[in-house]
Amino acid sequence: MREALDGTDGFISAQALHSALHAGGSPIGLATVYRALGDLAASGDADSLQSPEGESLYRACSTGHHHHLICRSCGLTVEIGADEVEEWAGRQAAEHGFTRAAHVVDVFGFCAECSARLGG
Ligand SMILES: [Zn+2]
Ligand SMILES: [Zn+2]
Ligand SMILES: [Zn+2]
Repeated sequence: MREALDGTDGFISAQALHSALHAGGSPIGLATVYRALGDLAASGDADSLQSPEGESLYRACSTGHHHHLICRSCGLTVEIGADEVEEWAGRQAAEHGFTRAAHVVDVFGFCAECSARLGG
């Protein structure tokens, strides 16, 4: 499953990955794809996030903490670091006495290409 994810550029839903695998001739079932992606995300071998529509999306990312810019039209994904966010999140947690704080910050929008195609 990790290989299938590696073959995609951006975040992809279990359903879309299942369709792609089927188109490639794989008889794998949708439930199996869901379970495999969930396992990859749980073990840290894949990133997962919720789209603004509430759909779970997955991607084989670089390891280490990072954030994402995701195009809502074509799915283009850019991994971004965000020092300001790390600092801000750490400070907020400390001020409220939270330890072992983690955060998820992903930015959804339209990439430059899609923006141009859609007329801004
Ligand atoms: Zn990632
Ligand atoms: Zn795009
Ligand atoms: Zn961060």
